Parts: sequence; structure tokens; C-alpha cells
Amino acid sequence: MNILITGAAGFLGSHLCERLLKEGHHVIGMDNFITGNPENLAHLTNNENFSFIRHDVANFIFVPGKIDAVLHFASPASPNPASPFGYTNLPIQTMKAGALGTHNALGVARAHNARYLLASTSEIYGDPLEHPQKETYWGHVDPIGIRSVYDEAKRFAEALTMAYHRYHGIDTRIVRIFNTYGPRMRLDDGRVVPNFIQQALRGEPLTIYGDGSQTRSFCFVSDLVEGIYRLLLSDEHDPVNIGNPTETSILEFAKTINAIIGNPAGIVIKPDMRLGDDPQRRQPDITRAKRILDWSPSVSLEEGIRKTAPYFSAKMGIA
Ligand code: NAD
Ligand code: UDP
Repeated sequence: MNILITGAAGFLGSHLCERLLKEGHHVIGMDNFITGNPENLAHLTNNENFSFIRHDVANFIFVPGKIDAVLHFASPASPNPASPFGYTNLPIQTMKAGALGTHNALGVARAHNARYLLASTSEIYGDPLEHPQKETYWGHVDPIGIRSVYDEAKRFAEALTMAYHRYHGIDTRIVRIFNTYGPRMRLDDGRVVPNFIQQALRGEPLTIYGDGSQTRSFCFVSDLVEGIYRLLLSDEHDPVNIGNPTETSILEFAKTINAIIGNPAGIVIKPDMRLGDDPQRRQPDITRAKRILDWSPSVSLEEGIRKTAPYFSAKMGIA
């Protein structure tokens, strides 16, 4: 297939480009580098099956030649207002990537009669009142809350994707991605995994926002990419959760990272750093992915952190 992937220079986008090329596809990456980095694609630039277009997906997208699939991953993804790369500091760009970008990417799929896959998120469930979260849950989102620029953009993106499927017959898929981590995450986007790994490697206490009782379920990037690739090849049009169902409190997570990296500095509680509407509990129900895609994650948290830490130490210049 000839595959267009937006957000290609980001964390997930760059891993997907790699996987799609390994599967023998031709890949066109698109990105405006607002949160991504050309370095993430540097190892692919000599691959004759890879090309790149620098472009903001909020503007009309033109791609020469035939396209068989469009994967729309362009969007800031970190909530952290302490980082200039957090979507709370890029609110308009985030809404435009989710709304106008989704419209333009769907337009490409329609023009080429291509299949389309939307990167949605567990954030569409908001601060969930049901636990674990099944795809049938409608969510609990404050439409004007601090996180709404991301949550509502993704909810709109899902609605628009289903509209193109129902009214234009586009062959669409929606993946609801739960917290995923691995090499090539931005060091300074403020998400919990880059923050904790860097703090542990520097021998500093890990910053717990709030009291650390909030939970997340962390998926290693290779597991996620496998699930997304299976979904792309499937004929499932309804949303599918992809994530690791092993739930941990942020406090337990910090202790685990310190133990794996060998950081004696412990933790520091930062009650005021917790963002409004921060989901208290998050855990994917992956029954649908298991049934439809025969997929479940295989990388344990310890293995995943051990595979991720060397990327950070190399970027930080620590041997
Ligand atoms: P990332 O910030 O590393 O990657 C996003 C990429 O999109 C960046 O390269 C950025 O420059 C690009 N981009 C943003 N706006 C753009 C625009 N207007 N035009 C062109 N390019 C643009 O983040 P990520 O973690 O790789 O997330 C990728 C996608 O997956 C996002 O859509 C995000 O919402 C979704 N997602 C990620 C996670 C996760 O845990 N990593 C969880 C849920 C959903
Ligand atoms: N968090 C934290 N310390 C940090 C960064 C984040 O305790 O240095 C918390 C944050 O408040 C949230 C969780 O970790 O409860 C996950 O945050 P992240 O920014 O990774 O993404 P989210 O899952 O909230 O989108």
C-alpha cells in the first residue's frame, strides 16, 4: 500500500513509519514539527520507500500519486502546562489538528477511496465514571475544562470519522490509544514517563502531581504498533481500545521506576501541579481488541522501562 501518515515525526508516528516500511509498504510522512522532531525520522530518509512532506494538516492537504491508506496521528498529545509542548499551551493548534486536520485527512481518503485510521485517545472518556473503560462508554468530559481542547477535538474527530464512514462510505477505523511510552518520546513534553525516567536517571526525586492515587495503565510502543497494524488490516469500523490493562497508581509507578533505574532519591509530592479534570482512574477494557484483532500486549512494565531508559540516557548525555 501507499500510506500517508500525519504526525510522522512524533513518537508514535515515527514507530508506525518504521513498522509500515518493514511490512513492505510505501510511506509518505507528513508533519509540521510543532511537537515532533525530524531526528525521529533521520534513519528513514535514505529508504527509497519513504518520503516526507512538511505541512500543517490544518491546511488543505495535497499528496501527489495514489494513496491506499491514511493514518491521522497529527496532534499535540501531552497535557502538561509546565511544558511549551503541552496541548494546554497549544490549545488552538490542538483543536485545529483534531478538527480541520481530521477533515483534511478524511478528504484525502475520500479523494483516493483509501482506508482511513484515526488516532483517538482514552481522553475521550474524560474523567471516567465507569471502570475499566469499554468502547461502549460515552465518557465524562467537561466541554470547557482545561483538557477540553484535546478531549473535544478528539471526540469531534471520532464523530467526523463516523460521518465520513456512514455518509460517504469511507473505510474507516478508530483506535482509542491509552497511555503509551517508549523511545522517541519528547524529553521535554512533560508527560509522566519522560519526566520520571529523566528524574530517576539524574538521581532526583520523582515529581508526583496531586497525591499519586490517580491511576494509569502503561503500554509499551511495540505492543501498541502491533495492535494498530492489526486494526488497519481488519474491517472493524467501531472504535477499538488499544492499551495495556495493567493498572497502577502514579505513586506505585514512581516507586517502580525508581526501583528499576536504581534511584535512591525517592519522590516529592507536588499537590498544585495536578491539572484540573485529571482522570482519577484509567484502564482499558481490551476485550474487543482481543476478540476482533486477536491482540493483547506482551511487554511487561519492567521490560518496557528497561528498553526505554537507554534512549533517555543517550539523549541526556549520560553514559
Ligand atoms: P507526539 O507529539 O510525539 O506526535 C505528534 C506529532 O504530530 C508531532 O510530530 C507533531 O509535530 C505533529 N503535529 C501536530 N500538529 C500537527 C499539524 N497541525 N500538522 C502536522 N503535524 C502536526 O505525540 P504522540 O504521543 O506520538 O501522539 C501521536 C498521536 O497519538 C496523537 O494524535 C495523540 O493524540 C495520539 N495518542 C497518543 C497517546 C500516547 O500515549 N502517546 C495516547 C493517546 C492518543
Ligand atoms: N504526573 C505526575 N508527575 C509528572 C507528570 C505527570 O505525577 O511529573 C501525573 C499526571 O498528573 C497524571 C499522570 O501522571 O495524573 C499521567 O500524566 P501524563 O502527562 O503522562 O498524561 P495523561 O495520562 O494525564 O494524559
